[in-house]
Amino acid sequence: MKVSIVIPLYNEEESLLELYDTIINVLKTENLNYEIIFIDDGSKDDSLNILKELHFKDNNIKIYGFQKNCGKSAALSQGFKKASGDIVITMDADLQDDPNEIPKLIEMINSGHDLVSGWKKKRNDPISKTIPSKLFNFITSKLTGIKIHDFNCGLKAYRKKVIKDIPVYGELHRYLPVLAHWRGYKVGEIVVLHHERKYGKTKFGARRFLSGFFDLFTVLFLTRYRQKPLHLFGFFGLLSFLTGFIISLYLTILWFQGYGIGSRPLLFLGVLLIIVGMQSFSIGLIGEMITNSKDDDSMYSVKEIIE
Ligand code: UDP
Ligand code: MG
Repeated sequence: MKVSIVIPLYNEEESLLELYDTIINVLKTENLNYEIIFIDDGSKDDSLNILKELHFKDNNIKIYGFQKNCGKSAALSQGFKKASGDIVITMDADLQDDPNEIPKLIEMINSGHDLVSGWKKKRNDPISKTIPSKLFNFITSKLTGIKIHDFNCGLKAYRKKVIKDIPVYGELHRYLPVLAHWRGYKVGEIVVLHHERKYGKTKFGARRFLSGFFDLFTVLFLTRYRQKPLHLFGFFGLLSFLTGFIISLYLTILWFQGYGIGSRPLLFLGVLLIIVGMQSFSIGLIGEMITNSKDDDSMYSVKEIIE
């Protein structure tokens, strides 16, 4: 059995050597066949050179360096593409995730999980990060129905098949457990150690919360309605149209009875609801055309093929 450790990094020069040493220690103790894939996400510091030196010493190290900073999801995606291990473990490069958790993660995969997510139960981050993060995790868990506490932990383990199946782009790395769950994979969670950031600083500012929120919509939409957009837009469209229609009907009856309706705010509401409803419906239909026009089976994960 081979493990691939996938590590996205952006300006983490101070951490890399220590990170490598700790990982190697664990892998050697466990006697594991391994490769370590570093994805340098366009670092402006000396990270890439340090990695090159490591590669010189250890040819189980692979390095992919981006031309510019493309984001953690892009880096993970590149790593996933190249990973050849039976189990793929992702980890942050800033020493906040503890490589000593690797054996536990592997054990969980071997006991039947397809994806195991770390849970930073005791989290060593500033409070400005932990509180919004709790809220984010709570909402995500409620809306998606997945009972895990920490969606965004950098430390995760995947069965190879899972990562080859799921496309990651934008900032969707936060939702990998959701995407996997919706494809029918067994997602689990274990409590992991989490350290304070020793060197450098966080690469995600307060904007992460806004983008995380947008991505939640994307994920909810893609997982439920990608194959049937009209079911979502049509529902709201019809609701809006019917409400508008009833309002207009009511006003029409009044008009026939001789009441003036021209200056009633209700008239505007009725007209507005009808227009918005028809637009929403049309967007749903256009969505259906887009879905229909490409033969896309990347949404389904095949468990077994017997031919
Ligand atoms: N990272 C990356 N590209 C980016 C931002 C971050 O590869 O554009 C890496 C970063 O170097 C680290 C991991 O993603 O290895 C997690 O980032 P960070 O520690 O800043 O996130 P936090 O722990 O604050 O959530
Ligand atoms: Mg970090």
